[in-house]
Amino acid sequence: MEFSIIAEIFERMENTAKRIELTNLLVELLKKTPKKIISNTVYLLQGIIRPNFEGVELGVAEKLAIRAISKSSGLSIKKIEDDYKKCGDLGLTASNILKLKTQTTFTAEKITLERVYETLFRIAKLEGKGSQDLKMKYISSLLNDATPLEAKFVLKILLGTLRLGIAENTIMDALAIAFTGKKENKEQIENAYNVSSDLGKVSLLIATDGIDEIKKFKISLFSPIRPMLADRVKSEKEAIKKMSKIFAAEYKLDGERVQIHKNVNEVVLFSRRLENITQYYPDIVENVKKSLSVNEGIFEAEIVPVNENTGEFLPFQELMHRRRKYKLEKAISQYPITVNFFDVLYFDKKDCLNLEYSERRKILEKLVNEDDFSKLVPMLLVKNENDIEDFLENSINSGCEGLMLKTLDAPYRAGARGSNWLKLKREYRNELGDSLDLIVIGAYFGRGRRTGLYGTLLLGTYNPDKDNFPSVCKVGTGFTDESLDQLYQILSNKITLKKNSRVVSEMEADVWFEPELVLEIVASEITLSPIHKTGLNLIRKGSGFALRFPKFTGKIRYEKAVEDASTDEEVLTLYKGQSKFSQVK
Ligand code: AMP
Repeated sequence: MEFSIIAEIFERMENTAKRIELTNLLVELLKKTPKKIISNTVYLLQGIIRPNFEGVELGVAEKLAIRAISKSSGLSIKKIEDDYKKCGDLGLTASNILKLKTQTTFTAEKITLERVYETLFRIAKLEGKGSQDLKMKYISSLLNDATPLEAKFVLKILLGTLRLGIAENTIMDALAIAFTGKKENKEQIENAYNVSSDLGKVSLLIATDGIDEIKKFKISLFSPIRPMLADRVKSEKEAIKKMSKIFAAEYKLDGERVQIHKNVNEVVLFSRRLENITQYYPDIVENVKKSLSVNEGIFEAEIVPVNENTGEFLPFQELMHRRRKYKLEKAISQYPITVNFFDVLYFDKKDCLNLEYSERRKILEKLVNEDDFSKLVPMLLVKNENDIEDFLENSINSGCEGLMLKTLDAPYRAGARGSNWLKLKREYRNELGDSLDLIVIGAYFGRGRRTGLYGTLLLGTYNPDKDNFPSVCKVGTGFTDESLDQLYQILSNKITLKKNSRVVSEMEADVWFEPELVLEIVASEITLSPIHKTGLNLIRKGSGFALRFPKFTGKIRYEKAVEDASTDEEVLTLYKGQSKFSQVK
């Protein structure tokens, strides 16, 4: 298929924010797309080239793209950077620059979607010495044959800046309409997506075999299931109101969630964001071969660092030692862990998702052979506030965050947040209530002890409707020397020449970042602010929300994508909760 077809539809998508129009455009595109390239088209629509869990990343930096544009246009790097500074989008720059070029040279060969996809795939697979130069060659050769419009979108896909305003939800609506004629069939498509995390695979199936096959869609090992998520409650009382008469309470451990896929030969571990994290935990791979009595299985557990001598849980940050290159062996012996199982989703050809929680727990207890390394998450059946209070106390005393409360007869709802799982944390009962997970969008250089590092960070929330990151506070407390160093290392790789177009802020930061890193923050109060943009106009026209006395808790939430960060709705809820609290006071 000619790439111009997709580029023109992308262009029309960029010019509308209306979901119906976007869906119609998608339907048009899907219908035009030959079946054999439908998966790849859908990946491109998601801005990826393979499902996320396969970890195929393009890894193209702005600098490299600028070199490629320069090579294929014959213009200097400086000219290209100047245009980029003006328009703030390298895709546009590529298109502007190529417009100049096409007046002189004319290219005949049309580029196809297949070619663009293959080139991107090859670029992603390149590594090692000389790979940067090869990547640059591949990109410039595509640009040589591309029209300005095509170049714009090739670049956006390459740099991961394609923002068509379409969420997975809209793609699923469009798949239902394009291939079944009925939007209602989306539910089946969504189910298939939730258990495979692979929209490309689901699209191919619906395009070729239709909705009946989708209805029969099965879990497959090594394709991660989208995790079930919990609602939060502030108190035991609120929990009792939301739950039925008797329910399960489990310790809420403070570690890293892992989905373990196992057959007789292989173990693969996925993070909460469904990235393959097997390489960081060879000790888990070894241990679960013994501790899980199944040939095949999919389990969920929380990885928690422990003190080997006392068995006490240690802070979640200790897990980060596992992420340091070249030091894994040392980390394994110096920072031992336990794996604490809390769910079973599949075992030996049996899909457990539709089983009730109580049944799944029974199966889990049978399949996990507990030892010093593999454990079951402590669970108790509870029915009143006192029960919860006692169990919460025990959980906090053993170093946990609080409790997870689970409805006994509820199935596992993949990919869904709901009230069948409730989280109750101890801090929820203090004044502001919850901690927030905020995105680092910019920074200011430090002084004194912090010279040369970032002394203060500018943080934002996530607005899912607009798919952007409005600012909410600056934070300069809660950092240790070590964490300042660590953040500097991490953030220096995320610097952008200009403020990212999804960042909404009127502040002038010393440096701006790709919004990618999430930090946990506590604060004493939420106030209305004329400066910050989170929740703008929700309470008062012209005002957003700001955090007062924000403090970094020390937790970098590596496991959270920026789209999982706190939203302006959540800040609004906390703001309202706090005003009620002060009225009572
Ligand atoms: P939060 O990240 O605060 O939204 O809390 C949800 C997270 O709690 C999950 O993603 C798990 O990593 C973690 N967790 C800890 N203990 C449990 C448990 N017993 N059941 C489910 N999730 C748990």
